[in-house]
Amino acid sequence: MRQVDRGNYVLSKSEAYLDSPQSIEYGATISAPHMHAHAAEILLPFLRPGARVLDIGSGSGYLSAVFHHLVSSEQQKGKVVGIEHIPQLVEWSIKNLGKDGLQHALDDNEIVMLAGDGRLGYPDGGPYDAIHVGAAAPVLPQLLVDQLTRPGRMFIPVGEYMQDVVQVDKHEDGRITSKRLFGVMYVPLTDREKQTM
Ligand code: SAH
Repeated sequence: MRQVDRGNYVLSKSEAYLDSPQSIEYGATISAPHMHAHAAEILLPFLRPGARVLDIGSGSGYLSAVFHHLVSSEQQKGKVVGIEHIPQLVEWSIKNLGKDGLQHALDDNEIVMLAGDGRLGYPDGGPYDAIHVGAAAPVLPQLLVDQLTRPGRMFIPVGEYMQDVVQVDKHEDGRITSKRLFGVMYVPLTDREKQTM
């Protein structure tokens, strides 16, 4: 996280270094740094150099940048795919990553930011060692579980009013286990029309 300047991923620069979420317009928010830290920490065992990561609801691009620094080293190039359903945010996140010194990673396709419905995941780029979902799903989406490697791990907030972060593990033998970690309040993983009304 020290290698990513949050000032490049927010609208209000004077509040860039506060440990709080911030509106990025279109009904979206950049999460608070402590939430990004939790997400990275929970997925950390799967974020080795060379790993593939899917960041759903990539918003500002901040966490995609953190994942990139973890999975790409000089010797080994990993891959981070960000999916966001607001095209303007996708454009903005690409600019943010460029400002943050990651234009080379975008040019080399080590980071790919796509516009699309994250509920479907992105099977073409998978399977993924780690999947981060940055918006709350009403129920655990099986399509995303299908896109995990064996072993692989997903961080996903689940619930409509009361939400919990759930850690979903796909084990080497294909067995799925899930563990509720802590209560949160995330933007819903929803239809674009509903979010921007
Ligand atoms: N992790 C990002 C954004 C978190 S806010 C950050 O910290 O900057 C949640 C994001 O999920 C929003 O940008 C919202 O537009 C996006 N989102 C909500 N539903 C989605 C869907 N169905 N598909 C893709 N993105 C979605």
